[in-house]
Amino acid sequence: MSQPPIPERPPFILRCRLLTPLAAGGYRFERDARIDVDETGRIARVAGWTDGEPKAAGEGGAPAPHQVVDLRPWVILPGMVDTHAHLPQLPSAGLGAGLDLLTWLERYVFPRERDFDRAAAERLAPRAFGAMAAVGTTTAVLYGAVYQPSLDAAFEAAEAHGIRAVIGKVMMDRLRYDPTLPQGVVLETSLRQSADLIGRWHGRDGGRLLYAVTPRFAVSCTADMLRESAALARATGSYWQTHLAEDAHEIDEVHRLFPDALDYTDVYDRAGGLGERSIMAHAIHLSDREVARLAETGTRIAHCPASNLFLASGTMPLGRYLEAGLTVGLGSDVSGGPDLSLFAVMRAGAYTQSGLRAMRGDAHPLLSPVEWLGLGSLGGARVLGLEDRIGSVEAGKEADLIAVDAATTLPIRDLADDEGEDLASRLIFRAGPAMVRGAWVRGRRLEGPVA
Ligand SMILES: [Zn+2]
Repeated sequence: MSQPPIPERPPFILRCRLLTPLAAGGYRFERDARIDVDETGRIARVAGWTDGEPKAAGEGGAPAPHQVVDLRPWVILPGMVDTHAHLPQLPSAGLGAGLDLLTWLERYVFPRERDFDRAAAERLAPRAFGAMAAVGTTTAVLYGAVYQPSLDAAFEAAEAHGIRAVIGKVMMDRLRYDPTLPQGVVLETSLRQSADLIGRWHGRDGGRLLYAVTPRFAVSCTADMLRESAALARATGSYWQTHLAEDAHEIDEVHRLFPDALDYTDVYDRAGGLGERSIMAHAIHLSDREVARLAETGTRIAHCPASNLFLASGTMPLGRYLEAGLTVGLGSDVSGGPDLSLFAVMRAGAYTQSGLRAMRGDAHPLLSPVEWLGLGSLGGARVLGLEDRIGSVEAGKEADLIAVDAATTLPIRDLADDEGEDLASRLIFRAGPAMVRGAWVRGRRLEGPVA
Protein backbone atom coordinates (compact mmCIF):
# COMPACT_ATOMS: atom_id res chain seq x y z
CA MET A 1 0.00 0.00 0.00
CA SER A 2 1.38 3.41 -0.89
CA GLN A 3 2.12 5.67 1.99
CA PRO A 4 -0.20 8.62 2.54
CA PRO A 5 1.36 12.09 2.70
CA ILE A 6 1.65 13.29 6.29
CA PRO A 7 0.62 16.88 7.04
CA GLU A 8 3.47 18.79 8.67
CA ARG A 9 1.67 21.80 10.12
CA PRO A 10 -1.82 23.26 10.31
CA PRO A 11 -4.21 24.00 8.74
CA PHE A 12 -5.27 20.69 7.20
CA ILE A 13 -8.23 18.35 6.86
CA LEU A 14 -7.80 14.66 7.60
CA ARG A 15 -9.89 11.95 6.03
CA CYS A 16 -9.36 8.90 8.23
CA ARG A 17 -10.82 6.31 10.51
CA LEU A 18 -11.40 7.73 13.99
CA LEU A 19 -11.51 6.23 17.46
CA THR A 20 -11.66 8.56 20.44
CA PRO A 21 -13.03 8.64 23.98
CA LEU A 22 -15.46 11.50 24.55
CA ALA A 23 -15.29 14.04 27.36
CA ALA A 24 -18.98 13.46 28.12
CA GLY A 25 -18.43 9.69 28.41
CA GLY A 26 -18.45 6.82 25.93
CA TYR A 27 -16.54 6.93 22.67
CA ARG A 28 -16.84 7.76 19.00
CA PHE A 29 -15.85 5.49 16.16
CA GLU A 30 -16.09 6.60 12.53
CA ARG A 31 -15.17 4.37 9.64
CA ASP A 32 -14.77 7.44 7.41
CA ALA A 33 -14.23 10.65 9.35
CA ARG A 34 -13.33 14.21 8.60
CA ILE A 35 -11.19 16.17 11.06
CA ASP A 36 -10.57 19.87 10.36
CA VAL A 37 -7.52 21.37 12.05
CA ASP A 38 -7.42 25.17 11.79
CA GLU A 39 -4.33 27.33 11.36
CA THR A 40 -3.86 27.70 15.14
CA GLY A 41 -3.68 23.91 15.55
CA ARG A 42 -7.12 23.59 17.05
CA ILE A 43 -9.67 20.97 16.02
CA ALA A 44 -12.36 23.03 14.29
CA ARG A 45 -14.65 20.19 13.36
CA VAL A 46 -15.09 16.42 13.63
CA ALA A 47 -17.67 14.79 11.39
CA GLY A 48 -18.46 11.75 9.31
CA TRP A 49 -16.96 12.34 5.86
CA THR A 50 -20.31 12.31 4.12
CA ASP A 51 -21.71 14.79 6.67
CA GLY A 52 -18.71 17.03 6.22
CA GLU A 53 -18.76 18.26 2.65
CA PRO A 54 -15.29 19.66 1.90
CA LYS A 55 -17.00 22.61 0.18
CA ALA A 56 -16.95 24.43 3.53
CA ALA A 57 -13.17 24.34 3.45
CA GLY A 58 -11.33 27.55 2.72
CA GLU A 59 -13.98 29.75 4.34
CA GLY A 60 -12.89 31.80 7.32
CA GLY A 61 -9.82 30.20 8.94
CA ALA A 62 -10.68 26.76 7.58
CA PRO A 63 -8.09 24.80 5.59
CA ALA A 64 -8.23 25.02 1.81
CA PRO A 65 -9.52 21.94 -0.03
CA HIS A 66 -6.03 21.10 -1.34
CA GLN A 67 -4.92 20.52 2.25
CA VAL A 68 -7.15 17.47 2.52
CA VAL A 69 -5.04 14.43 3.38
CA ASP A 70 -6.54 10.97 3.09
CA LEU A 71 -4.93 8.78 5.77
CA ARG A 72 -7.30 5.82 5.43
CA PRO A 73 -7.08 3.05 6.49
CA TRP A 74 -5.03 4.52 9.30
CA VAL A 75 -6.91 5.39 12.47
CA ILE A 76 -6.67 8.74 14.22
CA LEU A 77 -6.63 8.58 18.02
CA PRO A 78 -5.92 11.27 20.59
CA GLY A 79 -2.23 11.44 21.51
CA MET A 80 -1.34 9.45 24.60
CA VAL A 81 -0.50 11.22 27.87
CA ASP A 82 2.28 9.49 29.83
CA THR A 83 1.76 10.82 33.36
CA HIS A 84 4.96 9.36 34.81
CA ALA A 85 8.44 8.62 33.42
CA HIS A 86 12.07 9.41 34.24
CA LEU A 87 14.07 10.99 31.44
CA PRO A 88 17.59 10.09 32.68
CA GLN A 89 16.59 6.46 33.22
CA LEU A 90 15.64 5.69 29.62
CA PRO A 91 19.02 4.02 28.88
CA SER A 92 18.31 1.54 31.73
CA ALA A 93 14.96 0.46 30.25
CA GLY A 94 14.49 -3.29 30.50
CA LEU A 95 17.05 -3.86 33.27
CA GLY A 96 16.48 -4.99 36.84
CA ALA A 97 13.26 -7.01 36.69
CA GLY A 98 12.15 -8.29 40.07
CA LEU A 99 14.58 -6.26 42.20
CA ASP A 100 13.06 -4.51 45.17
CA LEU A 101 12.69 -0.77 44.71
CA LEU A 102 15.46 0.49 47.01
CA THR A 103 18.02 -2.03 45.64
CA TRP A 104 17.01 -1.19 42.07
CA LEU A 105 17.43 2.53 42.76
CA GLU A 106 20.95 1.99 44.13
CA ARG A 107 22.02 -0.36 41.35
CA TYR A 108 20.49 1.12 38.19
CA VAL A 109 19.08 4.56 38.83
CA PHE A 110 21.24 6.66 41.10
CA PRO A 111 24.49 5.98 39.18
CA ARG A 112 22.85 7.05 35.90
CA GLU A 113 21.21 10.14 37.36
CA ARG A 114 24.45 11.12 39.10
CA ASP A 115 26.06 11.40 35.64
CA PHE A 116 23.13 13.21 34.04
CA ASP A 117 24.73 16.59 33.43
CA ARG A 118 23.87 19.10 30.70
CA ALA A 119 25.89 17.27 28.04
CA ALA A 120 24.19 13.96 28.86
CA ALA A 121 20.77 15.61 28.67
CA GLU A 122 21.61 17.25 25.35
CA ARG A 123 22.54 13.84 23.95
CA LEU A 124 19.60 11.91 25.32
CA ALA A 125 16.58 14.24 25.40
CA PRO A 126 16.02 14.78 21.64
CA ARG A 127 16.18 11.03 21.01
CA ALA A 128 13.96 10.34 24.02
CA PHE A 129 11.23 12.68 22.78
CA GLY A 130 11.43 11.09 19.33
CA ALA A 131 11.10 7.65 20.93
CA MET A 132 8.06 8.76 22.93
CA ALA A 133 6.34 10.21 19.86
CA ALA A 134 7.17 7.00 17.97
CA VAL A 135 5.00 5.01 20.39
CA GLY A 136 2.17 7.55 20.34
CA THR A 137 2.94 9.71 23.37
CA THR A 138 2.28 13.39 22.68
CA THR A 139 2.35 14.57 26.31
CA ALA A 140 5.03 13.41 28.74
CA VAL A 141 5.20 14.10 32.48
CA LEU A 142 8.84 13.59 33.42
CA TYR A 143 11.29 13.54 36.26
CA GLY A 144 14.72 14.88 35.33
CA ALA A 145 17.87 14.51 37.43
CA VAL A 146 18.95 16.80 40.27
CA TYR A 147 21.12 19.14 38.18
CA GLN A 148 19.52 22.34 36.98
CA PRO A 149 21.50 22.64 33.68
CA SER A 150 20.31 19.19 32.60
CA LEU A 151 16.72 20.39 33.11
CA ASP A 152 17.29 23.44 30.94
CA ALA A 153 18.65 21.10 28.27
CA ALA A 154 15.61 18.83 28.57
CA PHE A 155 13.19 21.75 28.24
CA GLU A 156 15.15 23.14 25.27
CA ALA A 157 14.92 19.73 23.56
CA ALA A 158 11.17 19.51 24.24
CA GLU A 159 10.68 23.03 22.95
CA ALA A 160 12.49 22.17 19.71
CA HIS A 161 10.88 18.75 19.27
CA GLY A 162 7.30 19.94 19.70
CA ILE A 163 6.12 17.39 22.27
CA ARG A 164 3.94 18.63 25.13
CA ALA A 165 5.92 18.16 28.32
CA VAL A 166 5.70 18.63 32.07
CA ILE A 167 9.18 18.27 33.57
CA GLY A 168 10.73 18.76 36.98
CA LYS A 169 14.13 18.74 38.62
CA VAL A 170 14.36 15.90 41.12
CA MET A 171 14.73 17.18 44.68
CA MET A 172 16.42 15.06 47.38
CA ASP A 173 17.90 16.36 50.62
CA ARG A 174 17.98 13.19 52.71
CA LEU A 175 19.47 10.69 50.26
CA ARG A 176 21.80 13.01 48.31
CA TYR A 177 24.56 12.51 45.80
CA ASP A 178 27.03 14.62 47.76
CA PRO A 179 26.69 13.72 51.46
CA THR A 180 29.33 16.32 52.39
CA LEU A 181 26.82 19.08 51.65
CA PRO A 182 24.65 19.93 54.68
CA GLN A 183 20.95 19.15 54.30
CA GLY A 184 19.98 22.82 54.65
CA VAL A 185 22.27 23.88 51.82
CA VAL A 186 20.88 21.17 49.55
CA LEU A 187 17.31 22.22 50.38
CA GLU A 188 17.94 25.90 49.80
CA THR A 189 19.80 25.29 46.51
CA SER A 190 17.18 22.88 45.23
CA LEU A 191 14.33 25.29 45.96
CA ARG A 192 16.15 28.20 44.32
CA GLN A 193 16.99 26.18 41.19
CA SER A 194 13.43 24.85 40.93
CA ALA A 195 12.08 28.41 41.20
CA ASP A 196 14.50 29.54 38.47
CA LEU A 197 13.36 26.74 36.16
CA ILE A 198 9.69 27.59 36.83
CA GLY A 199 10.39 31.20 35.88
CA ARG A 200 12.01 30.15 32.61
CA TRP A 201 9.80 27.28 31.51
CA HIS A 202 6.41 27.01 33.25
CA GLY A 203 3.73 27.98 30.72
CA ARG A 204 6.15 28.45 27.81
CA ASP A 205 4.75 28.32 24.27
CA GLY A 206 1.15 28.94 25.29
CA GLY A 207 1.29 26.28 28.01
CA ARG A 208 2.86 23.50 25.93
CA LEU A 209 5.74 23.30 28.41
CA LEU A 210 4.92 23.14 32.11
CA TYR A 211 6.83 22.61 35.32
CA ALA A 212 6.32 20.07 38.09
CA VAL A 213 8.06 20.61 41.41
CA THR A 214 9.51 17.13 41.97
CA PRO A 215 10.56 15.90 45.42
CA ARG A 216 11.48 12.29 44.60
CA PHE A 217 9.67 10.56 47.47
CA ALA A 218 9.46 10.61 51.25
CA VAL A 219 12.46 8.30 51.68
CA SER A 220 14.82 10.78 50.01
CA CYS A 221 13.27 14.02 51.31
CA THR A 222 13.00 15.62 54.74
CA ALA A 223 9.70 17.00 56.01
CA ASP A 224 11.17 20.47 55.39
CA MET A 225 11.79 19.73 51.73
CA LEU A 226 8.34 18.23 51.23
CA ARG A 227 6.68 21.24 52.86
CA GLU A 228 8.79 23.90 51.13
CA SER A 229 8.49 22.26 47.72
CA ALA A 230 4.69 22.03 48.05
CA ALA A 231 4.58 25.71 49.00
CA LEU A 232 6.67 26.57 45.93
CA ALA A 233 4.29 24.64 43.65
CA ARG A 234 1.26 26.37 45.16
CA ALA A 235 2.81 29.84 44.92
CA THR A 236 3.75 29.41 41.25
CA GLY A 237 0.78 27.40 39.96
CA SER A 238 3.07 24.57 38.90
CA TYR A 239 2.42 20.87 39.53
CA TRP A 240 3.83 18.86 42.45
CA GLN A 241 4.79 15.28 41.66
CA THR A 242 6.20 12.49 43.78
CA HIS A 243 5.97 8.72 44.42
CA LEU A 244 3.58 7.13 46.92
CA ALA A 245 3.30 3.62 48.39
CA GLU A 246 5.07 1.70 45.64
CA ASP A 247 6.85 -1.06 47.53
CA ALA A 248 6.73 -2.77 50.95
CA HIS A 249 10.31 -1.90 51.98
CA GLU A 250 9.80 1.69 50.94
CA ILE A 251 6.66 1.93 53.06
CA ASP A 252 8.49 0.46 56.10
CA GLU A 253 11.22 3.03 55.63
CA VAL A 254 8.71 5.89 55.46
CA HIS A 255 7.11 4.70 58.72
CA ARG A 256 10.56 4.69 60.34
CA LEU A 257 11.44 8.17 59.05
CA PHE A 258 8.06 9.77 59.80
CA PRO A 259 6.87 8.03 63.00
CA ASP A 260 4.22 10.67 63.76
CA ALA A 261 2.40 10.36 60.44
CA LEU A 262 -0.81 8.32 60.31
CA ASP A 263 0.39 6.58 57.14
CA TYR A 264 2.39 7.29 53.96
CA THR A 265 -0.30 9.54 52.44
CA ASP A 266 -0.37 11.55 55.65
CA VAL A 267 3.33 12.40 55.23
CA TYR A 268 2.45 14.31 52.06
CA ASP A 269 -0.79 15.65 53.54
CA ARG A 270 1.07 17.21 56.47
CA ALA A 271 3.45 18.82 53.99
CA GLY A 272 0.53 20.46 52.18
CA GLY A 273 1.25 18.28 49.17
CA LEU A 274 -2.20 16.89 48.36
CA GLY A 275 -4.55 18.58 45.89
CA GLU A 276 -5.67 18.83 42.29
CA ARG A 277 -2.22 19.89 41.02
CA SER A 278 -0.48 16.96 42.74
CA ILE A 279 0.41 13.75 40.91
CA MET A 280 1.23 10.63 42.93
CA ALA A 281 2.96 7.86 41.02
CA HIS A 282 2.02 4.24 41.84
CA ALA A 283 -0.11 4.60 45.01
CA ILE A 284 -0.43 0.82 45.13
CA HIS A 285 -0.67 -0.09 48.81
CA LEU A 286 -3.22 2.25 50.39
CA SER A 287 -5.70 1.94 53.24
CA ASP A 288 -9.31 3.00 52.80
CA ARG A 289 -8.47 6.11 54.82
CA GLU A 290 -5.72 7.05 52.38
CA VAL A 291 -7.88 6.44 49.30
CA ALA A 292 -10.67 8.57 50.79
CA ARG A 293 -8.24 11.38 51.66
CA LEU A 294 -6.70 11.38 48.17
CA ALA A 295 -10.17 11.48 46.61
CA GLU A 296 -11.34 14.23 48.97
CA THR A 297 -8.38 16.43 48.07
CA GLY A 298 -8.62 15.73 44.33
CA THR A 299 -5.06 14.37 44.28
CA ARG A 300 -4.17 12.71 40.96
CA ILE A 301 -2.82 9.20 40.49
CA ALA A 302 -0.29 8.07 37.84
CA HIS A 303 -0.98 4.34 37.51
CA CYS A 304 2.09 2.44 36.26
CA PRO A 305 1.07 -1.23 36.03
CA ALA A 306 3.95 -2.36 33.77
CA SER A 307 6.47 -0.97 36.26
CA ASN A 308 4.57 -2.44 39.19
CA LEU A 309 4.82 -5.93 37.69
CA PHE A 310 8.40 -5.46 36.43
CA LEU A 311 9.70 -4.50 39.90
CA ALA A 312 7.30 -6.88 41.69
CA SER A 313 5.96 -3.86 43.59
CA GLY A 314 2.34 -4.94 43.71
CA THR A 315 -1.01 -4.71 41.97
CA MET A 316 -2.97 -1.47 42.21
CA PRO A 317 -6.69 -2.03 42.87
CA LEU A 318 -7.81 0.22 40.00
CA GLY A 319 -11.50 -0.65 40.25
CA ARG A 320 -11.60 0.27 43.93
CA TYR A 321 -9.88 3.59 43.24
CA LEU A 322 -12.16 4.55 40.36
CA GLU A 323 -15.18 3.69 42.49
CA ALA A 324 -13.81 5.97 45.21
CA GLY A 325 -13.69 8.81 42.67
CA LEU A 326 -9.92 9.08 42.17
CA THR A 327 -8.67 10.66 38.94
CA VAL A 328 -6.25 8.17 37.37
CA GLY A 329 -3.97 8.36 34.33
CA LEU A 330 -1.36 5.92 33.03
CA GLY A 331 2.41 6.12 33.33
CA SER A 332 5.19 4.12 31.70
CA ASP A 333 7.52 4.86 34.66
CA VAL A 334 10.50 4.17 32.42
CA SER A 335 12.78 2.68 33.54
CA GLY A 336 10.85 1.13 36.44
CA GLY A 337 8.66 0.12 33.53
CA PRO A 338 10.53 -1.44 30.59
CA ASP A 339 8.53 0.14 27.76
CA LEU A 340 7.69 3.72 26.76
CA SER A 341 4.50 2.64 24.99
CA LEU A 342 1.28 3.41 26.85
CA PHE A 343 -0.37 0.70 24.76
CA ALA A 344 1.98 -1.77 26.46
CA VAL A 345 1.09 -0.17 29.79
CA MET A 346 -2.63 -0.66 29.06
CA ARG A 347 -1.95 -4.31 28.32
CA ALA A 348 -0.07 -4.75 31.61
CA GLY A 349 -2.88 -2.93 33.40
CA ALA A 350 -5.55 -5.13 31.90
CA TYR A 351 -3.63 -8.28 32.87
CA THR A 352 -3.18 -6.90 36.37
CA GLN A 353 -6.91 -6.35 36.80
CA SER A 354 -7.66 -9.81 35.39
CA GLY A 355 -5.15 -11.23 37.85
CA LEU A 356 -6.77 -9.42 40.77
CA ARG A 357 -10.09 -10.92 39.79
CA ALA A 358 -8.74 -14.41 39.19
CA MET A 359 -6.55 -14.66 42.29
CA ARG A 360 -8.18 -12.37 44.82
CA GLY A 361 -11.79 -12.36 43.69
CA ASP A 362 -11.85 -8.60 43.05
CA ALA A 363 -15.46 -7.97 41.99
CA HIS A 364 -15.02 -4.53 40.41
CA PRO A 365 -15.85 -4.44 36.70
CA LEU A 366 -12.90 -4.87 34.33
CA LEU A 367 -12.23 -1.94 32.04
CA SER A 368 -13.08 -2.43 28.39
CA PRO A 369 -10.36 -1.85 25.76
CA VAL A 370 -11.82 1.55 24.85
CA GLU A 371 -11.86 2.46 28.55
CA TRP A 372 -8.14 1.61 28.74
CA LEU A 373 -7.50 3.83 25.71
CA GLY A 374 -9.47 6.55 27.47
CA LEU A 375 -7.37 6.18 30.61
CA GLY A 376 -4.21 6.64 28.53
CA SER A 377 -5.46 9.78 26.79
CA LEU A 378 -8.38 11.59 28.45
CA GLY A 379 -7.49 10.15 31.86
CA GLY A 380 -3.98 11.58 31.57
CA ALA A 381 -5.39 14.93 30.45
CA ARG A 382 -7.59 14.96 33.56
CA VAL A 383 -4.61 14.16 35.76
CA LEU A 384 -3.07 17.37 34.43
CA GLY A 385 -6.30 19.39 34.51
CA LEU A 386 -5.92 19.82 30.73
CA GLU A 387 -9.06 17.94 29.67
CA ASP A 388 -10.46 21.09 28.06
CA ARG A 389 -7.39 21.17 25.76
CA ILE A 390 -6.29 17.61 25.03
CA GLY A 391 -7.13 13.93 25.60
CA SER A 392 -9.82 13.37 22.96
CA VAL A 393 -10.51 14.22 19.33
CA GLU A 394 -13.33 16.72 19.72
CA ALA A 395 -14.02 20.15 18.24
CA GLY A 396 -12.48 22.97 20.25
CA LYS A 397 -9.53 20.96 21.56
CA GLU A 398 -5.94 21.31 20.43
CA ALA A 399 -4.98 18.82 17.71
CA ASP A 400 -2.77 16.43 19.70
CA LEU A 401 -3.31 13.38 17.52
CA ILE A 402 -1.70 10.12 16.49
CA ALA A 403 -2.21 8.03 13.36
CA VAL A 404 -2.14 4.29 13.86
CA ASP A 405 -1.85 1.55 11.25
CA ALA A 406 -4.01 -1.22 12.72
CA ALA A 407 -2.95 -3.68 10.01
CA THR A 408 0.52 -3.91 11.61
CA THR A 409 -1.00 -5.47 14.72
CA LEU A 410 -1.76 -8.74 12.93
CA PRO A 411 -0.12 -8.93 9.52
CA ILE A 412 -1.84 -12.14 8.49
CA ARG A 413 -5.06 -10.40 7.56
CA ASP A 414 -6.50 -7.05 6.63
CA LEU A 415 -7.78 -5.51 9.82
CA ALA A 416 -9.50 -2.57 8.26
CA ASP A 417 -12.75 -4.11 9.40
CA ASP A 418 -12.14 -3.91 13.15
CA GLU A 419 -14.34 -1.30 14.77
CA GLY A 420 -14.84 0.26 18.19
CA GLU A 421 -13.99 -2.06 21.08
CA ASP A 422 -12.47 -4.71 18.77
CA LEU A 423 -10.16 -2.12 17.22
CA ALA A 424 -9.12 -0.83 20.66
CA SER A 425 -8.52 -4.38 21.84
CA ARG A 426 -6.27 -5.11 18.87
CA LEU A 427 -4.27 -1.90 19.43
CA ILE A 428 -3.68 -2.81 23.08
CA PHE A 429 -3.14 -6.56 22.99
CA ARG A 430 -1.37 -6.70 19.64
CA ALA A 431 0.49 -3.37 19.82
CA GLY A 432 3.74 -3.41 17.89
CA PRO A 433 6.64 -1.05 17.29
CA ALA A 434 5.55 -0.07 13.77
CA MET A 435 1.97 0.74 14.74
CA VAL A 436 2.20 4.51 15.21
CA ARG A 437 2.75 6.25 11.86
CA GLY A 438 2.27 9.89 12.76
CA ALA A 439 1.99 12.16 15.79
CA TRP A 440 1.01 15.81 16.06
CA VAL A 441 0.84 18.38 18.84
CA ARG A 442 -1.38 21.35 17.96
CA GLY A 443 -1.35 20.06 14.41
CA ARG A 444 2.46 20.21 14.15
CA ARG A 445 4.02 16.92 13.19
CA LEU A 446 6.45 15.41 15.69
CA GLU A 447 9.70 13.76 14.70
CA GLY A 448 9.80 10.09 15.76
CA PRO A 449 7.09 7.95 14.15
CA VAL A 450 8.08 6.29 10.87
CA ALA A 451 5.42 6.64 8.21
ZN1 LIG B 1 8.93 6.73 39.05
